[in-house]
Amino acid sequence: MNLSKSIAAYEEAKPLMPGGVNSPVRSFPSVDISPIFMDHGKGSKVYDIDGNEYIDYVLSWGPLILGHADEQVINFIKETVEKGTGFGSPTLLETKLAKLVIDRVPSVEKVRFVNSGTEATMSAIRLARGYTGRDKIVKFDGSYHGSADSLLIKAGSGVATLGLPDSPGVPAQLAKDTLTVPYNDTERVAEVFKQYGHDIACVIVEPVAGNMGVVPPVNGFLKSLRKITNEYGSLLIFDEVMTGFRVAYHCAQGYYGVMPDLTTLGKVIGGGMPVGAYGGREDIMSQIAPEGPVYQAGTLSGNPIAMAAGYMTLSQLTPDDYKVFRKKADLLAEGYKAAADQYEIPLTVNQAGAMMGFFFTDQPVINYQRSKSSNLSHFRSYFTTMIEQGISLPPSQFEGVFLSTRHSMEDIEKTIQAAAYAFKTIAES
Ligand code: PMP
Repeated sequence: MNLSKSIAAYEEAKPLMPGGVNSPVRSFPSVDISPIFMDHGKGSKVYDIDGNEYIDYVLSWGPLILGHADEQVINFIKETVEKGTGFGSPTLLETKLAKLVIDRVPSVEKVRFVNSGTEATMSAIRLARGYTGRDKIVKFDGSYHGSADSLLIKAGSGVATLGLPDSPGVPAQLAKDTLTVPYNDTERVAEVFKQYGHDIACVIVEPVAGNMGVVPPVNGFLKSLRKITNEYGSLLIFDEVMTGFRVAYHCAQGYYGVMPDLTTLGKVIGGGMPVGAYGGREDIMSQIAPEGPVYQAGTLSGNPIAMAAGYMTLSQLTPDDYKVFRKKADLLAEGYKAAADQYEIPLTVNQAGAMMGFFFTDQPVINYQRSKSSNLSHFRSYFTTMIEQGISLPPSQFEGVFLSTRHSMEDIEKTIQAAAYAFKTIAES
């Protein structure tokens, strides 16, 4: 495979931007291949600047659930942009998307749009602290909720990929208010509440963890969080930035039947444009300015082009799409497991709707500890062999694999064949 233009482009970018990129994992820090510069995408495929074609399971890190350059999304963006790029005043599109989000996300009664998932979680935490008058928050080891100070403690995603336990620059005074617990560990949550319960503003949780690889909640875990937060008057925040409209039509909360007080959204609701949102119970959301005293604002929030992309993405999704996602995910899982068995490669596959996690271990992966103990050198070899066969995957074990409505049965079959070859390569090395 010729990647010469990508290699040259990376050399040019490196002195200009930290790591040559604007988000760390894009620099491929934990694999043996230079980052690939993409040129364009269509449906399930992306094309790099050397002209190589890939079946894409990154999908812009989750947003492109309809695949690349969906015709209706692109046309609606074009129609909207012809009218101007933004006005800093309310537009009808914000109301349209707000209605759709409130209709689709069971616990959301009122919503505020922002520009990223980070902004959504940062604002939801401020709101939880403002509403409860408490400072402490609980998060889970290996969960990632964006790069706001309070949330960069024992974080997943790029923080895990780079092996950074915490980030310099986060004030110790702030870090001490973030309590961390292993994912899926109800007993440890109870212990933390026993000790600090009346100072805890909220528990923030990915209802399916997606930043330690994909790790679904064990039976009863989310319900136990709902129960204990109710008991102590703390808020429960579901960070559905990744799971929202990806795990199920009514998001993870609809699928698991547990209602949080606040929900954060991003990725799919922006249809590939920069959008985040937080929403929830009316009485809590009314504490946000200008209705209430908790301040949060944004020059470009609710930008019409971003709203258009989000609206046209969400309005095309149907409940049936999620049945098809499950079918495709099942096929991938079965194909991978059969190939792994054939070459005696330890493999665990986790699934949740259009999200999947493949781990090189024979142990069930239920938390970050387990995810970390999978074979990362197998992952590196697998990743490179897949790229060489035209399959684009997230370049880290600690990221999710995403499906779109445009991935065909042929794509799935090709991917399984490529994985079988990757496993054979590992077995023979
Ligand atoms: N929360 C979750 C669960 C995420 O997966 C991410 C990003 N991967 C974020 C928050 C942060 O979103 P953004 O990158 O848009 O700031």
